Amino acid sequence: MKSVAIVGGGPAGLMAAQRLAERGWQVQLFEAQATVGRKFLVAGHGGFNLSNAEDATLFAGRYGAERARFGALLEHFSAADLRAWAADLGIETFVGTSGRIFPVAEHKPADLLRAWLGRLRELGVEINTRHRWLGFAGNMGLHLRDENAGTGMGRTFIIEPTATVLALGGASWAKTGSDGAWVPLLQEIGVPVVPFAPANCGAEVAWSAFFQEKVGRTPLKNIALRVNEGPAVRGELMLTDYGVEGTPVYALTPQVRAALVAGGPAVLHLNLKPDLPPATLLQKLRQPRGKASFPEFLKKALHLGPPIPTLLREVAPEAATLEPEALAALLTALPLPVTGLRPLDEAISTAGGIAFSAVDDKLMLRQRPGTFVAGEMLDWEAPTGGYLLQGCFSTGAWVARAISEDWRLGNR
Ligand SMILES: Cc1cc2nc3c(=O)[nH]c(=O)nc-3n(C[C@H](O)[C@H](O)[C@H](O)COP(=O)(O)OP(=O)(O)OC[C@H]3O[C@@H](n4cnc5c(N)ncnc54)[C@H](O)[C@@H]3O)c2cc1C
Repeated sequence: MKSVAIVGGGPAGLMAAQRLAERGWQVQLFEAQATVGRKFLVAGHGGFNLSNAEDATLFAGRYGAERARFGALLEHFSAADLRAWAADLGIETFVGTSGRIFPVAEHKPADLLRAWLGRLRELGVEINTRHRWLGFAGNMGLHLRDENAGTGMGRTFIIEPTATVLALGGASWAKTGSDGAWVPLLQEIGVPVVPFAPANCGAEVAWSAFFQEKVGRTPLKNIALRVNEGPAVRGELMLTDYGVEGTPVYALTPQVRAALVAGGPAVLHLNLKPDLPPATLLQKLRQPRGKASFPEFLKKALHLGPPIPTLLREVAPEAATLEPEALAALLTALPLPVTGLRPLDEAISTAGGIAFSAVDDKLMLRQRPGTFVAGEMLDWEAPTGGYLLQGCFSTGAWVARAISEDWRLGNR
């Protein structure tokens, strides 16, 4: 029987395992942690956003430079396929107002993982936890350490599967097992790895101590945000003691990172009134203020209550004295200079990883025929909104098909 070794028990590895087992392969999965799917479960903490219902072209566009490749990957395993897959495991999903796809309320992430592992067991997938991949051995071999064995260094051994899938994840939230420690093992055999960088993470702004103390964590709803002169992203911004976070900030991480790498400045421009036509905004700002203080005027004319006056005092102390035109310009493009991105380990996902030049169309390593790569360990990034998990599922399904077709066609 043809055997495949899958290293890494995240969504990409588990999906590859299922699809290969369904095609009659003998599947052994090796996971360094004591349990599989740790980051998958973490992903469920803030709303378990599995995918997105938006149209295929828009969807593929979320993967930036890799949109064409992901267009094909998503065609092979789409958001609709993902929903059908979950339903087959007894987990119904729904499309939220934003187009995001979630499991229905009664299903927790752990329920989905439990049902999935049950299915894998039925299919005969052998899941070996506390088994760390240590590197390659010869042409087809894998060097592994069984950390269950004894209390010392564990037992090391070599296996020689017909094919291998590496699905070792990115390099954030190391406590879930995605520690990026695999990089030297790939570089050793000449695989180019693009340095990791935080993606979907907060941006740091040098707030004064007064602002940090007074404002703390405060959401700003219904805002628009852009980087320098780039396109605007709508959503909810969260002011934090270190700077800003939230969906629009995460979506703009690639542009912030690019501006910082280019030597800056990386300035987020915050539009506090994106729904108000410019003429209406101006008209409201031209109203006589009377005896009202500036904060009172902002509240009355534009419903801009706390913490906006404090934010204005922080980044534009002259705001209270500006003429209506200049104030309108400020309120629709309040500059927040970014000093850096949050550390890699805090990021929701990672940019960087195995360069696409290192794999062929099947996602097989050019340096090591028979070894395939799936999930976040490849060099792609996408915003939050279900695109990350869908990308992992789709690459997992893709390598499974590539492996089974490759051998069916007698290419090996
Ligand atoms: C806080 C948070 C919230 C998120 N929310 C969402 C969301 O709502 N929607 C969404 O789409 N995405 C979300 N994500 C992202 C999503 O969880 C990841 O993109 C996804 O889990 C990556 O899957 P993967 O299979 O590529 O890798 P991982 O899930 O990282 O799995 C890789 C596995 O490989 C194992 N491994 C590593 N090295 C070795 C080795 N040497 N030997 C053996 N095993 C090894 C690791 O222990 C790990 O279990 C979130 C992430 C975080 C951190």
